Amino acid sequence: MQPSGPGRRRGRFPVARFGADYETMRAVLVLIDGARADVLRELLGRGELPHLARWVIEPGGFAVGTTVFPSTTGVAYIPLLFGRYPGSVDIPGIRWLDRRGAAGTSGWRAQWHAARSYCGIQGGWLNRDITPAPSLFDLVPQSMAICTPLTRGLGPGANRIPTRRMILGAAAHYVGIYPTLDRAVARAWLDAALEPWRFLFVVFPGVDGISHLKDPHHPAVLESYRLVDRALGAFVARVKQKRGELPALFVVSDHGMTVMREHCDPAVLLEREGIPTLRHPVHVWRRDARVATMVSGNASVQLYFEPRSGRDRPRTESEIPGAILDRLLALPAVRLAGCRDDSGGVIVRTKNARALLTETSGMVCYTPQQGDPLGLGGYVELDDREMLSRTRETELPDAPRQLLQLFQSPRAGDLVLAAAPGFDFRGPWEVPEHRAGHGSLIAEHMEVPIAASVALPDAPVRTVDVMPTILERLGVAVPPGSAFDGVPFSKLAATTQPQIR
Ligand SMILES: [Zn+2]
Repeated sequence: MQPSGPGRRRGRFPVARFGADYETMRAVLVLIDGARADVLRELLGRGELPHLARWVIEPGGFAVGTTVFPSTTGVAYIPLLFGRYPGSVDIPGIRWLDRRGAAGTSGWRAQWHAARSYCGIQGGWLNRDITPAPSLFDLVPQSMAICTPLTRGLGPGANRIPTRRMILGAAAHYVGIYPTLDRAVARAWLDAALEPWRFLFVVFPGVDGISHLKDPHHPAVLESYRLVDRALGAFVARVKQKRGELPALFVVSDHGMTVMREHCDPAVLLEREGIPTLRHPVHVWRRDARVATMVSGNASVQLYFEPRSGRDRPRTESEIPGAILDRLLALPAVRLAGCRDDSGGVIVRTKNARALLTETSGMVCYTPQQGDPLGLGGYVELDDREMLSRTRETELPDAPRQLLQLFQSPRAGDLVLAAAPGFDFRGPWEVPEHRAGHGSLIAEHMEVPIAASVALPDAPVRTVDVMPTILERLGVAVPPGSAFDGVPFSKLAATTQPQIR
């Protein structure tokens, strides 16, 4: 298929349209924030998600895919809407430090700006902080979205229930009324069913929100999955009644979730040892700060050393204070640490092991220098998708790619820590206390359900593959000069299942 007409420009990104089916090809991406693949599968097995089974999985399929690091809301939406890793578009976490902005000479307002957190009133800044790259909304002009924090490229009136998302979202966070918010999303979805969109993005925040307050297997969380399924059923019924043909349907999650048994806040630990530490929410103006800790998820944290120095360039391994690194690596809460190698690449550390990750000419290289921190059995050199397959069933799925992509971003911390199962990096002081969380590189945070009414490949998939798949399904050409980190499902199938002639 070739583009039938001239590309047309919308905003900064040229949009090419394909042939005659253009107006009838439509797609819906439903994001069940924080849905665990195993919980979804268990509910499917019990027949409790009949609409997902009938309208999505039966014509297409279901796979357990992997998300990005840090595996956290907002950041992990980027692959779904941009087809890029967060590090590729310079968003290293849901909190990060703008090194230049945090310099000692700047005023209180600049200090607050520099300590970026998309969890509160800076939430909307996520849209402007992403480096120039076309979103699905840019590339599919007739896009509509319900309850999303990522809105870049949406046209006027296409961002549905933004006020309810803000008000109910805040109320839900503090008093737990997530079912009210999810029901508002379901209503807006049904209302939008017959409108002339081509791409519709629908976000249900309830599973994530209630899981944080209770646990990922709590009956109230399971009920949130069923609520999404009922909403899907109502949407399908309305579309079939009036228009007949169903859009392509994708139902995914942005990260997994586990119960947190222990909170281990590195900022509190450093302060106890006499090291002033800049952190959220109220210590972003910490006097004489020597370290900044920026938590995502809450099971990952990025550390920035000498945050008031005004130094723009991230530190490499030899510039990181060894005593602090050793102290952190000794914590049971730390599964692994990562930092930039002095001569390129990324160093992976655990208490007793260390390895170098590099990438040259499309080959990802894992070189253990002491022990085997990623548990890959020794030196491994593979191309990107082979490395994904090789690491997919390990305790840290896709860790080489995910660490490399994170440290592409100059905004990423000097050091990143990924938490061990059962631990996170914020104190019990957080309101409300997080009893469950995500953010780490461990399998239970990285694994996500990917259900689609289109064929799924017989190969490991990532959430970053969903966006190129949707574009292909909609017949929208990739604009010249744009590169995606993901690959459409159809191409993955082609590369992993050699044609027999
Ligand atoms: Zn969450």
